[in-house]
Amino acid sequence: MGEKPVSESRSGRVDIVPQGGFHFEVRFFESESDRRYRSWSLPLAAAGAITRWWLKRSLSLGEIAGGGEELSGPEIEWEEAQSVSLRGVEREADIFEPYRGTPISTWLRYHNLGEGPHSYDSPQLLIVTCMDYRIELHVPKRFAYILRLAGANIRHREFDLACVLAFAGIRHVCLVGHTDCAMESLNEKREDFISGLQKMGGWSKSRAELEFGVFAPRLAIPNVVDFTLFEAAWLERRFPGLLVAPLIYDVKDGSLCQIVRQP
Ligand SMILES: [Zn+2]
Repeated sequence: MGEKPVSESRSGRVDIVPQGGFHFEVRFFESESDRRYRSWSLPLAAAGAITRWWLKRSLSLGEIAGGGEELSGPEIEWEEAQSVSLRGVEREADIFEPYRGTPISTWLRYHNLGEGPHSYDSPQLLIVTCMDYRIELHVPKRFAYILRLAGANIRHREFDLACVLAFAGIRHVCLVGHTDCAMESLNEKREDFISGLQKMGGWSKSRAELEFGVFAPRLAIPNVVDFTLFEAAWLERRFPGLLVAPLIYDVKDGSLCQIVRQP
């Protein structure tokens, strides 16, 4: 197979890059000038579905991923290290300017500073965070929808978010990664996963290995700060009506801080 990617352009760009004899990689760039992309590594057997998607533009890659084909993606290709910093919230003035006057600011004040009403008449915010048992969110009553997923990874679950936008009129999202997230070291835990699933889940070794091989690439996070920042930006581009705040929860002291990209 050739090494050179095939490119097409309409809005954004998709590169098809052959990988060995059995897979190919689909790289999706939001705009022509983007250097970052989401990629899906697909078996050659999926080529027909990809072609239909490309021609009709009516089938998302997520739908293909849910179609029962063996996939190992999507993954993010990381750009060179960005200048990113964490900004705590110890007083109201610490809140990042774009969040002021929004439900994001309301929640940061409530969680970190203990300020604000304890209940609301209608929901204002969607909070997406990890399922980790150490995360204890302080949220006023009836204030927020909360989605808890391993690694706060909403890929393949964007429909949940779409429902909240469409049915509840939510326009603000907090994407909350956390310190010491197990998904950051998932690839090092392959043997533990396989033996644990055999012992606790009653699975065969080969079935447990297959499960890890299929799902670990989707859930592993190279770096939680970069991942949360990138996913927040991705969601804002996918849903242009949204303001998405990338945050980090510190499991040691229970505080939230903001991920800020340096200009
Ligand atoms: Zn976690």
